[in-house]
Amino acid sequence: MKNPAFIYHRPVGLDETLSLLADVGHDAKILAGGQSLLPTMALRLGPPEQLIDISRVPGLDGISVSATGEVTVGALVRHATVEHSADVGRYAPLVAETMPYIGHRAIRNRGTLVGSIAHADPAAELPAVCLALNATLRAVSTDGTRDIPAAEFFEGYLQTALKPNELLQQVTFPAWPSTSGGALVEVSRRHGDYALVGLACALDVRDGVVASASLAFFSVGSTAQRVSEAEAHLVGSEPSAELFARAAEVVSEALNPAPDVHGTTAYRKHLAGVLTERGLSQATAAIGVPA
Ligand SMILES: Cc1cc2nc3c(=O)[nH]c(=O)nc-3n(C[C@H](O)[C@H](O)[C@H](O)COP(=O)(O)OP(=O)(O)OC[C@H]3O[C@@H](n4cnc5c(N)ncnc54)[C@H](O)[C@@H]3O)c2cc1C
Repeated sequence: MKNPAFIYHRPVGLDETLSLLADVGHDAKILAGGQSLLPTMALRLGPPEQLIDISRVPGLDGISVSATGEVTVGALVRHATVEHSADVGRYAPLVAETMPYIGHRAIRNRGTLVGSIAHADPAAELPAVCLALNATLRAVSTDGTRDIPAAEFFEGYLQTALKPNELLQQVTFPAWPSTSGGALVEVSRRHGDYALVGLACALDVRDGVVASASLAFFSVGSTAQRVSEAEAHLVGSEPSAELFARAAEVVSEALNPAPDVHGTTAYRKHLAGVLTERGLSQATAAIGVPA
């Protein structure tokens, strides 16, 4: 199906982009890689009247690592660039591990990491990774700059805390301690499909006990979501198969994913439990402690 007609803007600077957003933001959408926006427009799912193409805006295509190991990814960094970045592999290994799960190579060559976060698809991997890692999202507008914790960013199905006049400029992933391990696990019908259920998990194990745990699920509701009851169950205990099995039970009890043509609620709850045990085992193995 062809896209509906729209007014096209292609600013060449950040100030010009923000001025445009201030003027027409209520009727416009940012066009980044177009891998989510253009299909939804073609399907007439709330198509915007105006598009602001940021592909020519300089300064948004960088990956940087701070002296303390935080990794920042700019709004125009493509999935494929993140996937092959040595810095991301070293300083944000859970992000690197996630990238091959995102669609297919052609999509990763065009789509952007920040675009996926701004799109806030509850079935996408990266919003869950942001939640698991407590990432920080930076929004800019003519009113200034604000940093939004991932926990406050995803508000509902394709809904975020971004205001119509704001551009999501970058995402920052916190430093990854050497005592941490993570895993991205999902069940999908074919590799590259959106997951039936997925989990981004991170564990920090110090002196043989779990110091912190993040379990962020996707494809289980209107947003990615952490299961704090299961995380609390893990903290303070030694990693073990029994501990992970109990955490899996807590997860299956806590989540209530809606049924669809791909699976019932009971099946998805079961998958979430299976993925909990699998993800925690992989995360523990990545740290190199016995479980
Ligand atoms: C066949 C297919 C399979 C896919 N499979 C997966 C998958 O398995 N997992 C997955 O996670 N994704 C998948 N995707 C989506 C893909 O990851 C997209 O690249 C990503 O969701 C959006 O990135 P984009 O740069 O293409 O954003 P766009 O499509 O350009 O924009 C998406 C939305 O975000 C907004 N936006 C983008 N950038 C900004 C910004 N900087 N500030 C404010 N708003 C912004 C846009 O206005 C729009 O509303 C798939 C896509 C296709 C077509």
